[in-house]
Amino acid sequence: MVCIYCGGTTFVTNSRKQKRSNAIWRRRSCNACRGIFTTLETVDYATAIIVTSLEQHREFSRDKLFVSVYESCKHRKDAQASATLLTDTIIKQLYPLIKDASLSVKSIRKLTLKTLHRFDEVAGVHYKAYHPDTN
Ligand SMILES: [Zn+2]
Repeated sequence: MVCIYCGGTTFVTNSRKQKRSNAIWRRRSCNACRGIFTTLETVDYATAIIVTSLEQHREFSRDKLFVSVYESCKHRKDAQASATLLTDTIIKQLYPLIKDASLSVKSIRKLTLKTLHRFDEVAGVHYKAYHPDTN
């Protein structure tokens, strides 16, 4: 990867696995200008997972899942931080449910509801109100 400041070549000075989000964090340093910046390697879920329902098939969107979790946690002061961690937790729990690079929207909603309900009963109730077909 080239330097964002001068276009010079960079090297990795530090890297860490982020277990919860299944990502790798890397600190890079530039050979030319000594600039330092961070990169984050994550799964490109949109190209990796198709979400299926009776009506349509579409790309998996972490952002979409995050928004629905965030909306369900809005009553909490730590809504954004909780939604970030909960979204990562839900996605990791979805891994074993992926079949032929696909997940049903029903399985995503079911797991999301279960996880939210366990975390905060009110969040579970909010989620269910927006997704009444989830059991
Ligand atoms: Zn540079």
